[in-house]
Amino acid sequence: MSLAAFESRSSSNALLLFRDLLKGSIANRNLAIGRSLHALYLKSFIPPNTYVSNHLVLLYSRCRQLSLARQMFDEIPHPNIFSYNTLLAAYVHESQTHLATVFFSRIPNPDLVSFNTLLCAYAAASRTTDAIALFSQMRHFDCDMDGFTLSAVLSSLLHSGAQQFHTIAITTGLYAYISVSNALICCYSRIGVLVDAEQVFHEIPVIDRDAVSWNCMIVAYGQHRKGPKALSLFQEMIRRGVDVDMYTLASVLTAFTTVKDLPGGMQFHSFLIKSAFEKNPHVGSGLIDLYSKCCRVLQAKQVFEEVDEPDLILWNTMISGFSLNDEYLEEALLFFQSLQRAGFRPDDCSFVCAISACSNLSSPSQGQQLHSLAMKSDFPTNLVSVNNALISMYSKCGNLKEADKLFVRMPERNSVSYNSIIAAYAQHGLGCDALELFKEMLDSKNEPTSITFISVLSACAHTGQVDEGRRYFNSMKKDHNFDPSEEHYSCMINLLSRAGKFAEVDQLIKTMPFDPGVIGWAALLGGCRTHGNLELGARAAEKLLELDPSNASAYVMLANMYASSGNWEEMANSRRLMRDRGVRKKPGCSWIEIGKRIHVFAADDVSHSRIKDVYEFLEEISDKMKLAGYVPDVKWSLVRDDVREGEVRLAHHSEKLAVAFGLISTANGAPILVMKNLRICGDCHNAIKYISRIAGREITVRDAHRFHCFRDGHCSCGDYW
Ligand SMILES: [Zn+2]
Ligand SMILES: [Zn+2]
Repeated sequence: MSLAAFESRSSSNALLLFRDLLKGSIANRNLAIGRSLHALYLKSFIPPNTYVSNHLVLLYSRCRQLSLARQMFDEIPHPNIFSYNTLLAAYVHESQTHLATVFFSRIPNPDLVSFNTLLCAYAAASRTTDAIALFSQMRHFDCDMDGFTLSAVLSSLLHSGAQQFHTIAITTGLYAYISVSNALICCYSRIGVLVDAEQVFHEIPVIDRDAVSWNCMIVAYGQHRKGPKALSLFQEMIRRGVDVDMYTLASVLTAFTTVKDLPGGMQFHSFLIKSAFEKNPHVGSGLIDLYSKCCRVLQAKQVFEEVDEPDLILWNTMISGFSLNDEYLEEALLFFQSLQRAGFRPDDCSFVCAISACSNLSSPSQGQQLHSLAMKSDFPTNLVSVNNALISMYSKCGNLKEADKLFVRMPERNSVSYNSIIAAYAQHGLGCDALELFKEMLDSKNEPTSITFISVLSACAHTGQVDEGRRYFNSMKKDHNFDPSEEHYSCMINLLSRAGKFAEVDQLIKTMPFDPGVIGWAALLGGCRTHGNLELGARAAEKLLELDPSNASAYVMLANMYASSGNWEEMANSRRLMRDRGVRKKPGCSWIEIGKRIHVFAADDVSHSRIKDVYEFLEEISDKMKLAGYVPDVKWSLVRDDVREGEVRLAHHSEKLAVAFGLISTANGAPILVMKNLRICGDCHNAIKYISRIAGREITVRDAHRFHCFRDGHCSCGDYW
């Protein structure tokens, strides 16, 4: 930028040139040129005026330089409404809803644009209460709503209120706006009233429907698991000559994906191949999502490879697809690396998918690496979704402290943040803390979701707080207008059976609107085993096996239950039944991460390179354990006659091997973390208590249900599991 170019011009000419250059740098998001223009402006080559200042704010906001935008705004002596709205939009654009809210309250006379901008932010963050409060505030400012306002409020509604705003739309005449009708379709579908969504759709004259209307309705069918209806609406669209775009095709795919209708989806895939749409990245993402959610990861990968120019979204979908399938978790992390090699910068979504792969892989070291990489990336690191994923990751990798630290430091939280931290505390057996956090959530403006209640109820179950649990279960409908789902009922069955309240469970099962299902019956069976209720347990096992004859853990639990009551004949029967039906017990295995490598152990393992040292260590420590009072509980070994053999088998359970390996491979005093794919067995639970005291170590075991943190001879679960 040459100063001479300005000096040689008359001042009005210079201003015109300056404005053109500034507009150009905004359009091209050219920060370098923008900054030199700003410098010129400060040197007073251009007389100060609000118009130019506002455009400088806009420039920095388009270049995603939020603090520079704010600084520029603060330098404006008399900001006008355009100045305010520009900075407000910048906050909203960067998902800084909290800052946007605070800033909004500073605007002396907010206008329609200000309201609509903030409403949009609330809609995006699903902050229903805030959106409705803001909407009613408009009246005090004498601000009339428009179609945009109503669409935004409708998009923020999660559970109810559609009817009320539908009426407002009709009385204000805004119903005629296609964007309002479209928002109503989505809203009705989201809160679960498909017929009302359909009615709104049919009330829009065919000629007025735009592609979005059709798409909203197709998405609605998808959400309500009506794949064939979505497909026939799509066919109608084609017949009527409506332009089909990528979004339509992706919506139809979603309809198949939500119901995991693989054959239907594949049929649609062949239509896509014929119409040459399948090489489009957006459609490709839909296909990858379909295949990976239907456990056809290799087919998903094939789609990925055939897309012409993969974009970031396609990469992210593929990483997410891998991360959903246990055998492909490592692949997810490799793809995260390849994405960077292919020249993309991972965005928040890439991080969320990769971090969730780490959670499922239980690899704390790789999770930590991703955390520091995310901190260094230039997208705003406080993005709520990344932090939420990190909280879950740290929690699933056994590091509750780090999860909590992250949660406490989050500048902004949403319902998912609360759900993640409440689930973390519940899984770690700190039910009381989980419930405290839930109360905090109710006081904050974050509305509980149906997932919140699953964590809350399981927190009550893990800590045996039956009364609390009952109260929360009832408050779901009463205070929060949720109909408890099958999963919530399963949680209640779990809570009551663990506490041995079998008469109440029986009553609940008789009155609930669904069959308890696999999870419910399994919970009841588990409770019966703990309390030795053979009769009810056998009934639960029978129901469970009717629904899922290949459920190995049902046979095993039943066999264990007979074994512990000394009924060896029935035990043998249930094992025979299992064998006759060709059901194989999911092999139990435990693993531990040492030196960035994951070491897996099966029971009686002989394959690990240091297995000899492991067995030697166990021999040694077992003498000390017995001296301290440990008695092997052979009922867990399922060996009938030979006590000695039973003891040996017990001593070689995979979780003991992994713990022993952890102890001999790490420095004295270091805490260790072991994962197990099944529930920890009672004898191992007891043994590891002794080991933690003798070795002076903190030993955490994550089994299929929860965390057990052993310290100085005690477990955090208080033996209630
Ligand atoms: Zn064991
Ligand atoms: Zn425990």
